Amino acid sequence: MLNILLFGPPGSGKGTQSKKLIQHYGLKHLSTGDLLRKEIEEQTPLGRIAQHYIEKGELVPDNVIIGMIEELFNTHQNVKGFVFDGFPRTVAQAKALDNMLQHRKRTICIMIILEVTDQELLKRMLNRAKIEGRKDDEPHIIEHRIKVYKEQTAPVIDYYKKQDKAFFINGMQSEEAVFTEICEHIDKYSKCK
Ligand code: ADP
Repeated sequence: MLNILLFGPPGSGKGTQSKKLIQHYGLKHLSTGDLLRKEIEEQTPLGRIAQHYIEKGELVPDNVIIGMIEELFNTHQNVKGFVFDGFPRTVAQAKALDNMLQHRKRTICIMIILEVTDQELLKRMLNRAKIEGRKDDEPHIIEHRIKVYKEQTAPVIDYYKKQDKAFFINGMQSEEAVFTEICEHIDKYSKCK
């Protein structure tokens, strides 16, 4: 089972690269951002809680996210593997994910971190705001999300570095070049197939 963790700040290209990866390796895309937006759209109780945090650029509480992932695992037992996009976003989530995988005799095979400068992130997200109209793509909220990433999410990198699974890729290259490099890393350094 191939479980890939795609990591990086908001706007670094995780969504775009995830879509290519699931096609190339035949995996299931697991984007907590997409799942949460769907809950919000459907105005479920979970969606109402999530909306409150997302619109401020804050993280949704760990217990909400972990519960959501657990449920998803239970309904997708027979997939070839997952591309985790936007999760785990805190060390507590990473620990919970490791536990859930361990229970199923699985593991994270590799973590790919997309590196993009703050200036480029801001530019890309302002651009995306014009196209998609996401409420959290407003300038001061974007800046807050980047701050939250640095403070609460970036420590997850060290967690996987300790397991020798973390690899950095320059996310400022073309979409195709980034994808080629990600695949090269997966094929060479993945701890499982
Ligand atoms: P981006 O990577 O551009 O920030 P996402 O779609 O991944 O976009 O996430 C949008 C928002 O959803 C985040 O700012 C956060 O509020 C919430 N969110 C998504 N995933 C998580 C998570 N794993 N833990 C906590 N909050 C999350």
